Amino acid sequence: MKKAQKERVTELRLNGASYGEIAEMTGIKKETIKSHCLRHGIVKNGNKQCCLRCHKPLPEQTAGRKRRFCSDACRWAWNYAQRAAKREAESAEVD
Ligand SMILES: [Zn+2]
Repeated sequence: MKKAQKERVTELRLNGASYGEIAEMTGIKKETIKSHCLRHGIVKNGNKQCCLRCHKPLPEQTAGRKRRFCSDACRWAWNYAQRAAKREAESAEVD
């Protein structure tokens, strides 16, 4: 894909388009779009505030800090996964 196409795919996906819809709009193969989105972590509706872990849309924010998770359970699970991934990366380096 050309740079402009990638940008278009990314924008459409973030605005909630399905792979099939993007394929129709851009003429790019669905598989290409899918692998691009997966590789770059581009999630459907990514422009809306969604839970980082389960991608459920978050409730509207009124004030204060931005929420990144829909619940404490998701926040804990995310932090735990991050720590585990970090440990794994570190031990891989030692080996
Ligand atoms: Zn969640």
